[in-house]
Amino acid sequence: MAAAKSARAPRVVIIGSGFSGIALAIRLKKAGLESFTILEKASRLGGTWRENTYPGAACDLMSFAYCYSFEQKTDWSRKWSPQPEILAYMDHCAQKYGVLDHVRFESEVTGARFDEEAGVWHVQVRRPGDQTEELQAEVLVSCVGQLHRPAFPKISGLDSFEGEWFHSAQWNHGIDLAGKRVGVIGNAASAIQFIPEIAPQVEHLTIFQRSANWIVPRGDRAYSEAERRRFRRFPWLAKLYRWMIWGRQELMFPVILENPRASQRFEQLARQNIADHVADPELRAALTPDYPIGGKRILIHDDYYPALARENVALETSPIDHADAEGLVTADGRRHAFDVLIFATGFETNSFLAPMAIEGLGGRILEDEWKNGAEAYLGLSVADFPNFFMMYGPNTNLGHNSIIFMIECQTAYIMDCVRKIIARNLRYIDLRPEAMDAFNEELQADLRRTAWAVTGKSWYKTESGRITNNWSSTTTRYWWKTRRADLSVYEQVARSRPDQLTPARIEIEALRRGPAASAAGA
Ligand code: NAP
Repeated sequence: MAAAKSARAPRVVIIGSGFSGIALAIRLKKAGLESFTILEKASRLGGTWRENTYPGAACDLMSFAYCYSFEQKTDWSRKWSPQPEILAYMDHCAQKYGVLDHVRFESEVTGARFDEEAGVWHVQVRRPGDQTEELQAEVLVSCVGQLHRPAFPKISGLDSFEGEWFHSAQWNHGIDLAGKRVGVIGNAASAIQFIPEIAPQVEHLTIFQRSANWIVPRGDRAYSEAERRRFRRFPWLAKLYRWMIWGRQELMFPVILENPRASQRFEQLARQNIADHVADPELRAALTPDYPIGGKRILIHDDYYPALARENVALETSPIDHADAEGLVTADGRRHAFDVLIFATGFETNSFLAPMAIEGLGGRILEDEWKNGAEAYLGLSVADFPNFFMMYGPNTNLGHNSIIFMIECQTAYIMDCVRKIIARNLRYIDLRPEAMDAFNEELQADLRRTAWAVTGKSWYKTESGRITNNWSSTTTRYWWKTRRADLSVYEQVARSRPDQLTPARIEIEALRRGPAASAAGA
């Protein structure tokens, strides 16, 4: 078949080179679709695993399930492996699958505008030295995730503090904490990982806890040489282990639904964890949350409570009132002097794609559309933003299982959309508003039945209490809903014939059959 004059492969721009961006790039390459670019604001890949280098940073899902299913790592060093090992695994994947050639580092996307006539996204990029440039793409995919912009609480007087301060996600390795008086604000997933690491070095450590968290034991240990040898020799064993972890985590979802049997078992485990390590009844009470288990992220660690038992560590529950030159002053009027303050205060999680200005049909700006809370269809598409997808977008975070599983579901769905856009020679697909509304109505109704709904503030919610970050069900259900893209929920706008997107046969066949067909030039 003669290809149309302007036939070419669709261009795909991916924003971000974390776990999502790398996964999508690999899928595109496997499908023989090479016309994609990853724009990465930093000078190396890795996303959150590049940013979070604090001492003790490690995954809080067991390692064998925290890697891609198509690139099962068999030689994890520990049950919960540390950040450098995860980052090295990401480097390995990018290298092995030839992703690096497609990444443009130090290229920060500031905005993107959709040209309806051409069916093209114009992507604005800021490069070093305040240079700007524009890229064009038929398909735009945001892979920036939910946890990439550090959040700082507003503490009056902080400017006058004469010591050093930094955020846990921007750890200042140039500051030697040995012998210093250190204040840590926050006591959640990040804080409980680095506190046991730094506590033995510092002169004194004060942890400012606003709310207690449920913490269950991690049972971390290194894999023995024999175990690692076995996994390397029998990779299927590693895969089996992976799916066992996934299955076991999946069975935890009833905790999120406040199922009495499941919740009681976990709460008992968490209460016993406190009892095992904390002798002081007053401290025990302060460490016991007043909301149902699962209402915020269930934390796992073996060393946090033992760290609190150290003589040089104190837990402070009086709220921070203000800062001064010396340190912090709590609401009860006490002064706490510090050399270093560490903000373990999490991320800006509700504004998702900000500060990027994404402009869809009719000049609509995504951030404005989301002023009452972000929403999307399956976390992937938004009405009036054609050929635009998100990975780890609104309502796709989990409280019980692996985000890698969700990411792989999303790549499959996006690939199916791309395949159909090519096969049907579409200028664009645009989610129907009624599909988005119906999806979100059901989602929010489901979310109202969760422990998140009955718990106060958390990073899963907007100020008004709408849950914008978490998926409402099991990952199995998400897989079922994303296993193929049903384009009937999208308006499909055709491309004019001379403007054929691609020498369709070659691309579509390649997409269908995968890399072998593509390599053979089928
Ligand atoms: P986070 O869960 O948002 O926790 C922020 C902490 O700062 C909370 O303890 C919060 O208290 C406290 N805080 C915020 N503002 C405060 C203020 N003004 N005064 C006192 N305390 C204040 O952030 P995170 O620990 O960085 O974790 C975020 C997410 O990242 C996790 O839920 C998890 O999904 C992910 N994560 C994963 C890993 C891993 O896989 N290993 C590690 C770290 C993080 P309140 O609870 O009262 O709000």
